[in-house]
Amino acid sequence: MANINPKFGEKLKEYGAENFNACYNCGTCTAVCSLSTPEDSFPRNMVRCSTLGQDQEIEASLKPWLCYYCGECSLHCPQDANPGELMMSLRRWLTAKYDWTGFSGLLYKSLAVTLISLIVVALGVVGFAYQQNFELESLMHYGHYFEMIAIGSVFAVVLVPNIIRMWYFVIIKPKKKVAFATYFKASGDFFVHMFTQKRSLGCDDNQVRWFEHLILVFGYLALLFTTVFLDWFDSKNLFVIALGYIESIAVFVITADFVNSRLKKQKAVSTHSQPSDWLFVVGLLLMGFTAFLVRLAIDMNMIQSQLWIFIVHLIVLAQWALIVVPFGKWTHFLYRSFAMYFAKLIELSK
Ligand code: SF4
Ligand code: SF4
Repeated sequence: MANINPKFGEKLKEYGAENFNACYNCGTCTAVCSLSTPEDSFPRNMVRCSTLGQDQEIEASLKPWLCYYCGECSLHCPQDANPGELMMSLRRWLTAKYDWTGFSGLLYKSLAVTLISLIVVALGVVGFAYQQNFELESLMHYGHYFEMIAIGSVFAVVLVPNIIRMWYFVIIKPKKKVAFATYFKASGDFFVHMFTQKRSLGCDDNQVRWFEHLILVFGYLALLFTTVFLDWFDSKNLFVIALGYIESIAVFVITADFVNSRLKKQKAVSTHSQPSDWLFVVGLLLMGFTAFLVRLAIDMNMIQSQLWIFIVHLIVLAQWALIVVPFGKWTHFLYRSFAMYFAKLIELSK
């Protein structure tokens, strides 16, 4: 008999779901969803599982990750049950479920926890700068090492264990039989989806959003590579300097458009913004903008007199690396890529 959690509906509301109990199971949402297939049919059955409190069904499901939130289902729902937003809320709930530290859930559910975390990290950076007597050279040196150590630690301590938990929930616990060789056979799918998110092209009228995401993913990863491995702020190489400028501008321009879209509530994906959504887009926007300003201040020989620019950049960087990447919406990018990979494993094992 299916497991029933009567408190699940209330819990989902803490993750942003609203009005899904109004669903009368007509199936219109599934009929209009261009990503739903007979093998992977959604969102109606996810709405059904949510109203019935079947949290273990959802925990083992990859369906919330197969939705790219085009909003068509919500537009056509005769009950205003907003199945598109429910799918988004399920992704938040699953992110909290995968996270062994429990911190993701706290961030999603409490704005106070989010604000306190941001303030603590900012104070930590200012305290460190004070301890270094606000010496630019020393701050740049440690800032550069911080990036490398933070990336490695966040992956080793938080993200890799969480991916293993996700694998346990969707493959091991439901007793899916996957041959060892299949893990290699399906690996191409992981990289293709991670870098191109090509499945989202299946959503109607999604080409512009897909293209913006593509530039953002490549711009963000390239900026990370340029600052961490090519040492952009210290580089004298004109090509590296120009590359960093182009990447930071690309990240800034695309995220500014996303912020604008959320402010104006132009698309379904941006009409129900939660604090975690704002933290992601504003954090990314500030990353691109402050990185650009730091390099500009270096090139104009102003960085010594305008040290605050670098300290603000360090604060944004630390908040991004210690809060958004391991526990915030950035993880959706990773979990979605693994969801495509696990879905392929299951498909090849049938
Ligand atoms: S369209 Fe609305 S009412 Fe119909 S199944 Fe979907 S969520 Fe329920
Ligand atoms: S938001 Fe779009 S992709 Fe997601 S379930 Fe609804 S129709 Fe399908």
